Amino acid sequence: MGYKPPVCFKKTLFNLIMTERKVRVRFAPSPTGALHIGGVRTALYNYLFARQHGGEFIFRIEDTDSNRFVPGAEEYILESFKWLGIPFDEGVSFGGNHGPYRQSERRDIYKKYVQILLDADKAYIAFDTPEELEAKRKEIANFQYDASTRMQMRNSLTMSKEEVDKWIAEGRQYVVRFKIEPNEDVHVHDLIRGEVVINSSILDDKVLYKSADELPTYHLANIVDDHLMEVSHVIRGEEWLPSAPLHVLLYRAFGWEDTMPAFAHLPLLLKPEGNGKLSKRDGDRLGFPVFPLEWHDPKTGEVSSGYRESGYLPEAVINFLALLGWNPGNDQELMSMDELVKLFDLSHCSKAGAKFDYKKGIWFNHEYILQKPDEEIAQLFKPVLEGQGIDLSQYSDAYLTRVVSLVKGRVNFVKELWEQARFFFQAPTSYAEKDVKKRWSEDTPRIMSELMEVLRGIEDFSSKPSEDIVIGWITEKGYHMGNVMNAFRLAVVGECKGPHMFDITELIGKEETLKRIQRAIDEIGK
Ligand code: GLU
Repeated sequence: MGYKPPVCFKKTLFNLIMTERKVRVRFAPSPTGALHIGGVRTALYNYLFARQHGGEFIFRIEDTDSNRFVPGAEEYILESFKWLGIPFDEGVSFGGNHGPYRQSERRDIYKKYVQILLDADKAYIAFDTPEELEAKRKEIANFQYDASTRMQMRNSLTMSKEEVDKWIAEGRQYVVRFKIEPNEDVHVHDLIRGEVVINSSILDDKVLYKSADELPTYHLANIVDDHLMEVSHVIRGEEWLPSAPLHVLLYRAFGWEDTMPAFAHLPLLLKPEGNGKLSKRDGDRLGFPVFPLEWHDPKTGEVSSGYRESGYLPEAVINFLALLGWNPGNDQELMSMDELVKLFDLSHCSKAGAKFDYKKGIWFNHEYILQKPDEEIAQLFKPVLEGQGIDLSQYSDAYLTRVVSLVKGRVNFVKELWEQARFFFQAPTSYAEKDVKKRWSEDTPRIMSELMEVLRGIEDFSSKPSEDIVIGWITEKGYHMGNVMNAFRLAVVGECKGPHMFDITELIGKEETLKRIQRAIDEIGK
């Protein structure tokens, strides 16, 4: 037997994480306003990842910055995911046994962990007032509160224990800062970006806790919660990548390296033109929403459009967002949520930012309208019809469904069905001028009267039989096919557009068809 190489046990970090831990991911927005569409994509990727691995998806509210709290934001976020069809397994409003899931309700927990860092000499108390900090900034160019400056500041490293205790007892405000050791390479393993290394000297001694509101900052609360909630993977936007080294150091300070979650920082969403970060202004400028639902800003009163109110189907939004920064490895574009769950793969996420091609979003909506059963689209069409003053009791669901089937290929949004289908509900009251000019000549009224006679005689008014008879009559008479059919269409529709003529007449019926032709004869050319 020849040489047999040893079995290679080398596992990638990814495999290790995948095989050894229960997948638990979280979406952790701060309730500071409407949920940006980038946040929706982050949540979607977390959800796909969780479902694919039989894991759990947690909804956590990070509301430790009381200055930025906006009432209604939490409810808005929840409603958005309900509309989009992204369910959570655990969290605010869903329950679970790792709660509470609202950070403002976890003050005591954070206090305990701040104390652990203080006791271990990994953090310290700092009393520097804003004025003192400002003075230092003036004194030292590019001042940073870190190993090189902390011994010049007013903190528990430079004060005696008695003095610190006295100041606290006096009720002086303080913060707790993380004591970052300088000159150390910090490695962040990112499932999308690979290994990111930065030197700890560039980090400042971040504030972890503020006595003023007895609340931790984002960094501390985020790490403590991810640990306590047993989060296995942190999948979030690229804007959080700069915080990751600090987070790694915090995990280490607590001695939690072994259960540190794996990181995956998703690519930025870019302006449609590709230069710079997507902002709400881009949406205003080009006319597309950047929020899932319409948002009424409680402070300014400003109303911002939402995908839901703009007439997007949630399935289309999901599919559109899924492909902003990820692809299935081939050029398949239309994927249901279930397919996405099967195909999603973090290693197919791009590092480069994803252009927010909102026109592609419109295309997806068109495709999903085509895909969705006509009966369902008919239901969505009802409010649009009512808005146009149509009495729905006059029309059966079957009628509406048939109308939808005839025109839905022409629209990108359900509301556009009205423009394409109004003649199924209202006789024309005017006739397109250019079509009249082109198609209505002196002897048209006579031919239309003849046509009325022909139509009257048709017993089965359904599409194919009436078409055969009318076409037969035109041919037999030697009339110009285009002219007669277009005049017929002009009379029934009001202009020379729309679906197959005899599909229209079948639906509106013989009596209505005759009425409309008679009216055109009476009105046009008057
Ligand atoms: N609260 C942060 C946010 O608003 C969470 C960032 C993270 O996922 O770590 O996005």
